[in-house]
Amino acid sequence: MDISTGEIAVAAVSHLGTDLARLSPSEILVSDRAYEGWIANADDTLPMLESAARVTPLGTASFDSTSAEKRLRDLYKVRSLDGFGAFTRAQLSALGALVDYIAITQVGAAPHLSPPRVEASGDAMRIDAATRRNLELVTGPEGTRKGSLLATTDRTVTGGGARLLAARLAAPLTDPARIHARLDALALFRDDSALTEDIRAMLKAAPDIARALSRLSLSRGGPRDLAALRDGLDAATAIATRLEALMDPPEQVARAETMLTGHDALTETLRAALTAEPPLLARDGNFIAEGHDTALDAARSLRDDSRLVIRDLESRLKSETGITPLKVKFNNVLGYFIETPTAPGEALAKDPAFIHRQTMASAMRFTTPELADLDTRIAQAASEATTRELALFETLRETALASADAIARTAQALAMLDATAALGDLAAAQGWTRPKIDASDAFHIEAGRHPVVEAALTAANETFVANDCNLGEDRLWMLTGPNMAGKSTFLRQNALIAILAQCGSFVPATSAHIGALDALYSRVGASDDLARGHSTFMVEMVETATILNQSTARSLVILDEIGRGTATFDGLSIAWAVLEHLHDVNGCRGLFATHYHELTELAARLSHARNAAMKVAEWEGDIVFLHEVEPGAATRSYGVQVAKKAGLPPAVIARARDVLGRLEKGDAKGGEARIRAIVDDLPLFAAIAQEPPDAPTDAVRETLGSLDPDALSPREAHEALYRLKGLLDR
Ligand code: ATP
Repeated sequence: MDISTGEIAVAAVSHLGTDLARLSPSEILVSDRAYEGWIANADDTLPMLESAARVTPLGTASFDSTSAEKRLRDLYKVRSLDGFGAFTRAQLSALGALVDYIAITQVGAAPHLSPPRVEASGDAMRIDAATRRNLELVTGPEGTRKGSLLATTDRTVTGGGARLLAARLAAPLTDPARIHARLDALALFRDDSALTEDIRAMLKAAPDIARALSRLSLSRGGPRDLAALRDGLDAATAIATRLEALMDPPEQVARAETMLTGHDALTETLRAALTAEPPLLARDGNFIAEGHDTALDAARSLRDDSRLVIRDLESRLKSETGITPLKVKFNNVLGYFIETPTAPGEALAKDPAFIHRQTMASAMRFTTPELADLDTRIAQAASEATTRELALFETLRETALASADAIARTAQALAMLDATAALGDLAAAQGWTRPKIDASDAFHIEAGRHPVVEAALTAANETFVANDCNLGEDRLWMLTGPNMAGKSTFLRQNALIAILAQCGSFVPATSAHIGALDALYSRVGASDDLARGHSTFMVEMVETATILNQSTARSLVILDEIGRGTATFDGLSIAWAVLEHLHDVNGCRGLFATHYHELTELAARLSHARNAAMKVAEWEGDIVFLHEVEPGAATRSYGVQVAKKAGLPPAVIARARDVLGRLEKGDAKGGEARIRAIVDDLPLFAAIAQEPPDAPTDAVRETLGSLDPDALSPREAHEALYRLKGLLDR
């Protein structure tokens, strides 16, 4: 339940943690019996404690499904709930508890609630909490919105639109028909920039009617909220008129159009009743327009006329007493009083017509029977006006709330138009394309880009290198390549493209064909989760277990360096077995980045797997990242070169090269004795560290290392010799 919008929905869930991660509720209600059970078995409670600001146990009676039915019938004032759909006992129990809790906590100010909706499980792509964090969907690397997918894609201009966009990103759809309905609407805005501009300008100027409605229904609203309804509903009508001009609008837009109108009577009333810019709080008064209510007008003119009489009295007193600095003033303690400087005041004090009220440092205060009488009359008139105005506010509030359902629908339509137009605007500006989504098991992205990394690179005047990904035939890709070459970026961009596509957004690619995913899993090996008290490797394995147990042939699995958190051979063996299981048993589509080059051998053994590598170029012993994904496995890992790029001292780099060379030459996998021998063979670090770095010989060694004598033609060998000599001469 969202009491700010009045939305309420029920669903049976099979993946509680995942559903809670999608909804990120601020509070969860559980029956106290279940709560005790959970506390006893802390592991099951974890998803709840993690996802909610608070877990509230409620008495079992609140969950009784029979009284729930009655509670719901009373709330919605219906004789039967059949009109809302068929509810199971469990669903009634959940709805009943929510409604009961509202009755307990929001005494006398029940929120307006829309009719309850039943959500089918499987409506939304399953994305668990770890994947959400990992893909930085709504929070970026710093834990704020910055750098997230949401921040990069959000071009909405209203609060409602922004909330809806966030909700859509959190819950991508699985049904191709629903996705295409959203895409149709988006395409309209992408293609018609004049329409998009007009609608966005109107939306931007319109107040947030959903928030206004919610404040009014929770008795927290004021006159400004009524004005927000008046202006917001007027804007909705204007937007509907703009949409009416369209020849053949997509279904969602046509439906939004019908939801925008029908408020003329209400806006008419509000326009006649309210001033142009009323105050926030009703008790501040003066928000009902003149001429709307005769009783109020009478009380007000009495109040205001008396004020004129006060001014008259003041000038009369001035001339009668001859004290020119004399003033009639008002404060909340004394009401109206006469104030003069001390010297003339002392004379006045002797006059029986003046009653002394107060002596100040440099002034004295008095009243007269006439002023006291006026004071009472003014106070009465003012309080009458206020009472009358508050009563009128209440009437207007009730009139508005009588249309709460229709207003809520209009708010939804506005939010939908905003979110859609914003994505259309984004697609047009960034050259995104419409994805093709169906029930096939395709996953074919051409020239895909990572929206967030691309935005960061563009801001730094650099270009993002687009890459293809086709998981149709070969469903699993094993991606190798040096650190920093762009493996993680490639993995994530494909996940983000799938999410965007299934949200009903266009995508950063030249084309995308995706068989709708039922679930998406993304993991980075060895990510720290010390806050939760798990060792790095334990977290990795718990998460891997989830993927093996839950992913299906319709899922996409993204594993970045799985098995990294333990000893090399253990890690490699686990990664090996996990990949085989995903290939043979789960049958999912998947992308794996790994530094274990041994894993690339798997591609030959698995029928639906292939290798891909990040392309790099070498340039005078340095490595240049091309950020291109090419077929085949990487031949080397270039770890030492990357370390050199990072500025490790030359002596350390030289030593690492030496050790690496020996490890690679002698079969490092040949057991401990072999490694022992290599270690014994190595000259002491101290010895080489003292040698001054020799640039030409380093460069020669580097070039020699990159030569493959068997692959050289005689002519190439000849050229290579010249190159080597040239290096020595430098
Ligand atoms: P590691 O193995 O160390 O985790 P990696 O191979 O996963 O590294 P990424 O983290 O994906 O590398 O990328 C490193 C950097 O390279 C990114 O921050 C980005 O600036 C740049 N980069 C990645 N992909 C591209 C691309 N396609 N086009 C341009 N720049 C890219």
